[in-house]
Amino acid sequence: MRIRDVVIGANASMYYKLNFRKIKGVYYPRSEQEVIAAIKHAISNGLSVTPKGGGSGLSGACTGGNDERLMISSLQMKEVLAVSKDQGYIDVQPGITPDKINEFLAPMGMRFYVAPSSRDIATVGGILSTDGGGNDTWFNGTMRDSTIRVKMVLYDGRVLTIDTKGVKSNDPELETELNKIGMSIHDVASSHGTLGFITELRLSIGPQIKETLIGGIAEFEECNALGRALTEMINRKSPVRYGEAITSAHLDVREDLNPPLLIIDFPANYESEMKDIIDYKPLDKQELAKMKDIRLKLPKRNPKIGIQVALFEGYGFHGDSLLHLQDRLDMVNALLVDHGMTPFAKYGHGPSKWYLGNNTPTYGLILHSREIKPEDKSGQEMLDTVLAIVNLCEANGITPKPEHKWPYSDELKKKRLEEIRGIIGQGFNPFLLSKECNEVLGSMV
Ligand SMILES: Cc1cc2nc3c(=O)[nH]c(=O)nc-3n(C[C@H](O)[C@H](O)[C@H](O)COP(=O)(O)OP(=O)(O)OC[C@H]3O[C@@H](n4cnc5c(N)ncnc54)[C@H](O)[C@@H]3O)c2cc1C
Repeated sequence: MRIRDVVIGANASMYYKLNFRKIKGVYYPRSEQEVIAAIKHAISNGLSVTPKGGGSGLSGACTGGNDERLMISSLQMKEVLAVSKDQGYIDVQPGITPDKINEFLAPMGMRFYVAPSSRDIATVGGILSTDGGGNDTWFNGTMRDSTIRVKMVLYDGRVLTIDTKGVKSNDPELETELNKIGMSIHDVASSHGTLGFITELRLSIGPQIKETLIGGIAEFEECNALGRALTEMINRKSPVRYGEAITSAHLDVREDLNPPLLIIDFPANYESEMKDIIDYKPLDKQELAKMKDIRLKLPKRNPKIGIQVALFEGYGFHGDSLLHLQDRLDMVNALLVDHGMTPFAKYGHGPSKWYLGNNTPTYGLILHSREIKPEDKSGQEMLDTVLAIVNLCEANGITPKPEHKWPYSDELKKKRLEEIRGIIGQGFNPFLLSKECNEVLGSMV
């Protein structure tokens, strides 16, 4: 095992001001045994443990906050362990990315169907811990829908194997207790590294689907019309394979965009029904690829003056809030302006699927957002803005930061994680479930 002097707290979120002196060790294990050895080192020194994958998470969870802690990276655990084409699964270590899995599967004509935009850097351990998914979650589900089982090492070195039905452990008493409260893969999904270190995953794979798709772009007068169109697709269970809505883009990055708009890809045999729902312009392969690329580049651009931040990643509009999308967005934007921020871009997956804190699936539009930040904003002011948005969302039927992004604003999920940690121990990412979580995050903006 290698202990490196380098610090790995860096991450893609706006929470990046770390007190590096609090990071007491960085481990890059290659096997479960090495993970257990690293955790033993943490226990004997009274340190908490922060698991880290690709660092692409946007909630600040993989930083570990300000605790005296040990970081365990999964980046050297990236092996494929086994694969069964017949039974439709692949066993992998947690540090492999979806892109690498698909490179491995391509010659077999198979595919792993979870595709967040960050699929080239995000690890499967991290994606399950945030329950991520891409523009196709509507069709392929989120990460939990493709995870058959996981192995996880706890803070005291005990090991759990968890699937959709329950838990197995090398400690029979622990196994009984966890099964009594019905622990399953749903609890690991979106747990943000608070339970243990995932060392292995069995993931569903399927044959590569060969179908003729039609790409198209639809422009709308305003977002309520877009919200109604997405609602109709959800009601009709439209077979949309890729759906990306861009609801606003600052003049500095508009180019040939005219939001609100929807970029979609659907099977050719659905053409007439899709025409019934939206007035879309068909795009040939090249045009479609260009539109998808614009969507990917949008969050990476900066305004001509100032810099942009990802203040609030993941507004979940569903039900009534989707039908009144424009009205709700106007409220959000007014709040942002009140707090001195300039809305820069809003774009995201729709129709989309995600899970609420009580593990029920919901369907709608997940919007990511970018804002232009004034230079003089303090970290606490930024976090206060985020918390004001959380309140506004809760009051208006918008799932604030769908739980795969923001577990600490989802009281149900938080309670459940606390219940499980009451049984298994508190050593992983304790700051996330502490009362001081928001203060800690504010100090890191
Ligand atoms: C450009 C960009 C595009 C993105 N697009 C999408 C998108 O389309 N859809 C989407 O859902 N998300 C998206 N994200 C968010 C991000 O990619 C996801 O949150 C990702 O799932 C995190 O994976 P990671 O390996 O980077 O994990 P990290 O950021 O390193 O960690 C995330 C969480 O998982 C925990 N964790 C990591 N590994 C383990 C492990 N082995 N055991 C236990 N806990 C662990 C960490 O403690 C932390 O709490 C995007 C991010 C960026 C920067």
